[in-house]
Amino acid sequence: MEIRGKSVYFGGVALQELVNRFGTPLYVYDGAKMVSQLNRLRRAFTIPHQIKYAIKALPSLSVLKWLRKHEAGADAVSIQEVKLALHAGFLPHEIMFSPNCAPFEETTAAVQLGVQVNVDNLPFLEQFGKLFGRTYPCAIRLNPHIKAGGNEKISVGHSDSKFGISILQLDEIKKIVHRYNMQINGLHIHTGSDIADADVYLKMADIFFSVLDDFPDVVFLDFGSGFKVPYREGDASLNIEELGAKLSNMILDYSHKKRRMPELWLEPGKFLVSEAGWLLATCTVVKETPSRTFVGLNTGLNHLIRPMMYGAYHHIVNVSNPADQPENYTVVGYICETDTFGTDRMISKVREGDVLAICNAGAYGYSMASNYNARLRPAEVLVINGEPHLIRKSDTWDDLLRGQVVIDL
Ligand SMILES: *Cc1c(COP(=O)(O)O)cnc(C)c1O
Repeated sequence: MEIRGKSVYFGGVALQELVNRFGTPLYVYDGAKMVSQLNRLRRAFTIPHQIKYAIKALPSLSVLKWLRKHEAGADAVSIQEVKLALHAGFLPHEIMFSPNCAPFEETTAAVQLGVQVNVDNLPFLEQFGKLFGRTYPCAIRLNPHIKAGGNEKISVGHSDSKFGISILQLDEIKKIVHRYNMQINGLHIHTGSDIADADVYLKMADIFFSVLDDFPDVVFLDFGSGFKVPYREGDASLNIEELGAKLSNMILDYSHKKRRMPELWLEPGKFLVSEAGWLLATCTVVKETPSRTFVGLNTGLNHLIRPMMYGAYHHIVNVSNPADQPENYTVVGYICETDTFGTDRMISKVREGDVLAICNAGAYGYSMASNYNARLRPAEVLVINGEPHLIRKSDTWDDLLRGQVVIDL
C-alpha cells in the first residue's frame, strides 16, 4: 500500500480508480507482489528446488497462469484442482497431487493425466502398488508427529491428525513398497499453516534423512508449506532467508555424506498470495451504540471467513479517507450472523460510502467464499504492470438459480 496525497495506491493503481471501474465488494490482487514473494523464496534456497503453488489458496485461472509464467509449479488437493492447473497451462509433470481422504479414483485419474501423485494412507498405498507396481512412481506423505502451526484447524502434522502415514508405520510402508516393487520417487511432509519457527522444517529434514536409505528411488523431498506471513505490524513471521540458508546447508551436507542429492520441493500458498490480495468493501452504515461504533460493510463472512473461522487478524484501512483522525471502530459484515472483521480498530475517520480495504486477503479469501445469505460472490481483479485486469466477474442472479430444480407443487 502506498498513500500519495489523499489517495491510496495498490500495485501502482489508485484504489479509487478500481472502485469506480469495478465497484465493491471487490477482490484485488497485485501480480508484482506475488512474483516478488516467489523470487524471495527462490533466492533463499541455494540448492536445486521446485516451488509448487498451492492452488487452494487462490485458484483463479489467471493467477495460476501468472504464477506459471514465473515458473512456479502447482500443488493440487483435489482432482478438480489438477484439472484447473492443466486448464491454466501447467504441464502434467509440473503438478503435484496431494489428496486426503478423496476417493481412490481421483488418484488413478491423476495418474491417467500424468501428474505426480502423493499417497497419504496405507490402504491406498497398497491399492496403488497392486495397480501400478513399478510402472508409475508415487510419493508418500508422512505424518512426522510434529505439532506446528497457528491453531488446531490448520495444524495437520501432529499425531492425532488425519494427514499422512505415521512415521511409526514405516515398517508397514516398507512391506507394501517391497511387496509390489513400487517406485517411491518422493517423500512429503506438510505439517500445517502459519508456522513461524524454522526449526520445524529442520526437524522434517532429520526425519527425511533418517528414512531415505529405505527409499532408493526418492529424487525429491517435499517440505510442504505453512510459511507464516505477517498479518499485522510487528507480527512474527517465518524468516525465509534463515530457513533457506539452514535447510539448503543441511541438504548439501547430506548429499556430500551420502552422495545423493534429493531435490527440494516447497508448496507455498499463503506466502505467495496472501499479502498480494485485498478485499475492498463499502461502508453501508456507521452505527453508534451505547457500547461501541460499528462500521457496517457490504461484505461479510460469505466473502472472507478467515477472521470468523480462524480468529485471523486482517489489517483494515480506510482507503477513501486514509489520513484523517483515527477513531475506534468495530468493523462488521452484512451477514445475519456475527461476522466481525475487526474489534476496537483505530481507523482513519469512516463516513458512510467510504471504501475500506481488508488486507492480506489474497489467500483463502475468494477460495473460501460462498453464496451464504443468497449473496453474490464479488469480482476479482489482477493488477499487472499498473494495469487492472478483470479475472472473474461477480456472481449474478442467474448463478443463484443455476442447478436448482424447482419441483411442481
Ligand atoms: C494447504 C496446503 C499447502 C499450502 O499451505 P499454506 O499455508 O497456504 O502455504 C501446501 N501443501 C498442502 C498439501 C496443503 O494442503
